[in-house]
Amino acid sequence: MSRIYDPTSKNIQKAAELLRAGALVAMPTETVYGLACDAANSEAVARLYAAKDRPQFNPLIAHICDLETAKHEGVFNQGALGLAHQVWPGPLTLVTPLAPTHTVCDLARAGLSSIALRVPAHPVARALLTAFGGPLVAPSANPSGQISPTSAAHVAKDMGDKVDFILDGGACEIGLESTIISCLSDTPQILRYGAYQAPDIFFAEQDKRKPDAPGALSRHYAPKATLRLNAAYPEGKEAYLGFGPALIHSTLNLSEAGNLNEAAANLFHMLRRLDETWPAIAVAPIPKTGLGLAINDRLTRAATRESISHD
Ligand code: AMP
Ligand code: MG
Repeated sequence: MSRIYDPTSKNIQKAAELLRAGALVAMPTETVYGLACDAANSEAVARLYAAKDRPQFNPLIAHICDLETAKHEGVFNQGALGLAHQVWPGPLTLVTPLAPTHTVCDLARAGLSSIALRVPAHPVARALLTAFGGPLVAPSANPSGQISPTSAAHVAKDMGDKVDFILDGGACEIGLESTIISCLSDTPQILRYGAYQAPDIFFAEQDKRKPDAPGALSRHYAPKATLRLNAAYPEGKEAYLGFGPALIHSTLNLSEAGNLNEAAANLFHMLRRLDETWPAIAVAPIPKTGLGLAINDRLTRAATRESISHD
């Protein structure tokens, strides 16, 4: 049974320690309660997707303690800097190009070369980020498709023993997700409307030109190589991305033990590595259960080169 803890400095240190060991910790933010884990630890991120029962790998928001630290993860243009100075700490997420010094893992970014960053305002989230000392991904602490939690009791009820530790910061002030603004080009563009109300003049033109469904803007990582799925063996000039005990030679293997968690953690960086040198990739069958659903979803989209929408 999951336990709820008061945000004393001792409990915050304990939560930071657990996060360093790869645990899932629920933390209050001013928007909603987030299910946090070490953004640099792909095994922990895979557990987080599994705990939320997400059938897709959507890129996650990396929560950071301050702008200076955020600059290690993303490249801030003038627009991004202006918005960060104006709103952070606060309910605004900025999407920027990935910085060469980034630590956030491929799986947390769903393989993208951009990154979503936010400095939250809630004192408990800030204390935890400072104690932890690195970025935390923290999507809403509820199973996929359910309502976002705004109290520690909601989290305990919704996530049960899938969450290792819950920090109780009282009821969330805002109760609405952060606004997401892309700063990938010189003109910032709203990807999701949320708790921060962006000035109209700034964004009105784009919005008229391109009415976007919330969060549906970003394209996902698509390999240059062609992908063939459910392949029993490679043909011609194909690399083979295996899964499970190697009966035939795999160029790379997502998980020799046939562990879906390990396969999810390896998926994006292995695809990237193969894509660097091979024109075509054949992928072994992956079971369509648990995290296997998200892995198959991502592979299918990569094979058909579709963009995907987010929840
Ligand atoms: P949440 O579900 O509140 O954790 O928000 C995550 C959302 O952030 C995703 O569903 C995307 O819409 C958005 N997001 C995260 N990373 C990126 C990115 N690199 N580019 C565009 N949108 C992103
Ligand atoms: Mg949510």
